[in-house]
Amino acid sequence: MNKCLFCKISIGEIPSKQEHRDDRCVVFHDIYPKARIHLLIVPHKHISTIMDMEAEDEALIGHMTRVARDVASDLGLEGYKLQYNVGKKGGQEVMHVHMHLLGD
Ligand code: 5GP
Ligand code: ZN
Repeated sequence: MNKCLFCKISIGEIPSKQEHRDDRCVVFHDIYPKARIHLLIVPHKHISTIMDMEAEDEALIGHMTRVARDVASDLGLEGYKLQYNVGKKGGQEVMHVHMHLLGD
């Protein structure tokens, strides 16, 4: 199967400015930031959208939220937005699950 854009970023085949990396996810800066700090939290596992999430992915999604909180704290953010765009009609352009972290 062909790898998608975020699969390629997750394995380092396409470069990104990373803030965090572990065995389950990677956090990097959005190339077109919509806030002073705009990060994407991306699981290594390819799941197209939140609609395709399975029961076994619950812990992974929870992990991503905890990582987002920890990275935001490390960057000194005292408040921020966490957002999933879900499916084309929900504004999702890259069909690999990711959480946006937006902070000013
Ligand atoms: P979506 O609209 O799918 O929720 O968000 C995809 C995000 O990925 C957009 O905010 C877009 O700016 C970002 N993006 C698209 N291509 C790249 C890329 O090659 N590198 C990085 N770092 N971000 C990208
Ligand atoms: Zn992918």
